[in-house]
Amino acid sequence: MAHKKRIKELIPQPKSRFLRVKCLHCGNQQVIFGCAAQDVNCEVCGKIILQSTGGKARILTKIIEVLT
Ligand SMILES: [Zn+2]
Repeated sequence: MAHKKRIKELIPQPKSRFLRVKCLHCGNQQVIFGCAAQDVNCEVCGKIILQSTGGKARILTKIIEVLT
């Protein structure tokens, strides 16, 4: 499943921006890409904070700020 990486020609949504998020488990804040193509884990506790669902990313934690 993970061996196939599909690159899309067009970005379907204009939501490709960076988000500052706070981990609900350890309180760590970090900046993530809102349209990441793969899961993003908390740098401190390893909890998944962004889940890639194949095109649209799902934020699983608290968004502090949207960086433009
Ligand atoms: Zn954490």
